[in-house]
Amino acid sequence: MTALAQRLARPEILALEPYQTAYDENDRDQAIKLDANENPYAPLLSDSLAATANRYPEPQPARLLARLAALYQVGPETIFVGRGADEAIELLVRAFCTPGQDAVLTCPPTFSYYETVAQIQGARCLKVPLQDDFNINKDEIVRVGSADENLKIVFLCSPMNPTGNSIARQDILDICTALPETLIVVDEAYIEFSTHPSVATELAGLENLVVLRTLSKAYGLAGARCGVALADPEIISVLRRIMPPYPLSTLTEQAVLQALAPFRMPLIKKRVDEILQQRDRLMEQLPLAKQILDVYPSDANAIFVKVADADSFQKIMDQAAIKVRRRENVFQGGFRITVGTPAENTTLLAALGLDQGVQSGRSAERIRETKETRISCRIDLDKTGVTDINTGVGFFDHMLEQIARHGGFSLSLICEGDLEIDAHHTLEDCMLTFGECLKAALGDKRGIGRFGFLLPMDETEAQISVDLGGRPYSVFKGAFSASHIGDYPTEMTAHLFRSLADSLGAAIHVSVNGENDHHKTEACFKALGRALRMAIRKEGDDIPSTKGVL
Ligand SMILES: *Cc1c(COP(=O)(O)O)cnc(C)c1O
Repeated sequence: MTALAQRLARPEILALEPYQTAYDENDRDQAIKLDANENPYAPLLSDSLAATANRYPEPQPARLLARLAALYQVGPETIFVGRGADEAIELLVRAFCTPGQDAVLTCPPTFSYYETVAQIQGARCLKVPLQDDFNINKDEIVRVGSADENLKIVFLCSPMNPTGNSIARQDILDICTALPETLIVVDEAYIEFSTHPSVATELAGLENLVVLRTLSKAYGLAGARCGVALADPEIISVLRRIMPPYPLSTLTEQAVLQALAPFRMPLIKKRVDEILQQRDRLMEQLPLAKQILDVYPSDANAIFVKVADADSFQKIMDQAAIKVRRRENVFQGGFRITVGTPAENTTLLAALGLDQGVQSGRSAERIRETKETRISCRIDLDKTGVTDINTGVGFFDHMLEQIARHGGFSLSLICEGDLEIDAHHTLEDCMLTFGECLKAALGDKRGIGRFGFLLPMDETEAQISVDLGGRPYSVFKGAFSASHIGDYPTEMTAHLFRSLADSLGAAIHVSVNGENDHHKTEACFKALGRALRMAIRKEGDDIPSTKGVL
């Protein structure tokens, strides 16, 4: 028996001679390229954009496939990468559905593009509606599917758009088993917001399973247009036969590789966490609005609600200049509301006359990228206990942890630095970034203590005083006898406090005496944390300066 992909694909697709691009991976860098009618001059854009944009891209870029394979934990041969998950949907229908004969099956209300693509292709669209509780009707899908020998694709969306609920994993697997001669396409556009794990782990055992993932939602790259189909390599090779000559722009590839660089990943995760916290906040508040009759549980970054009077709800949203998605195909009064930033959600709740709840905490993010170091930093001043620190210099990680722990705030700081030279750039740039990020998180400094100071610690005495008044000044009194603690050069300590004073805009005075260099260094950083704890704490609502600004 030939592979499923061979049996299911349209015969003319299997017979066709795919378009041959001029791209040849072997001659990329060395050859003089006079083969593709490209312009020999790089475009007049900034350097990073211009570098390769005059050349046609690799049709399925190897570096991008490798990164996505690591991200989704599958092999690169099981990935088709294209212009969004949308392109994968389009190519699946084009490759497998013969016009006027074959069919797809959808479970409305659902993402409407599945049906649109079927219509464009001239394929039939069978429909097995969701049940009243928004669950799929598994038995009916299997019954309808078994009765139509030309059913080629079942589209399942999990978590669903627009309703937000997930499909039980076992139901998906049961459908795959019950309809072995049909592609079961599971659209996981929102899976990163869900507690359900991806079904992509089942790909090896299920020849007819196709999983769609996208960088548009959780990774915030909707404008870059990048998404994938994950499936058996035979199915992927059918999609690659019919893809446009160069489905992805070089600019997209660059943007995606940059966005998915490992040092940025913790910040992406923190943003998703923040969206989930905001979803909880809206789930708690929205049911209290008098215009809203029902709020449905969501595993996505949107909440589906039923309002009493759709026109008047729409009017309230229009007046507040908030766009929400009216979805009355689900039922009368149906609206889908995307979870926004804390401030956007506050505006939404205020427009509905609701208590806006606890205001979001003070936080900031910073990315710093040079030839020497790549750093991501996030500080949440009003959250405690979460630190995620990796600079590659173990002792320094420990010191940053001391600052966050004793400072009483949450810190994420990841650095990929040129440690093969030495720790200098890493330490200095991390401290500068930390200071900038802390400064940004403090915002207008309204209500803070502004000053902090601390005295003895153990057999060592570290005195430290801090003023977050905005003027950088640094004094460091102390000496170390050892040159290094682990990979950490002791001469950097004074330098780091100066870097912090500069980037934070603070006066920091340190004086340290004692016997043991490890203790002395640790005492300095702990004391800094304690002094910061006093200085950043919100004590009131005034700007702590007679000038009225800081
Ligand atoms: C947003 C969305 C998509 C589109 O993803 P792109 O990668 O941006 O094309 C696909 N499926 C569903 C269910 C979506 O909501």
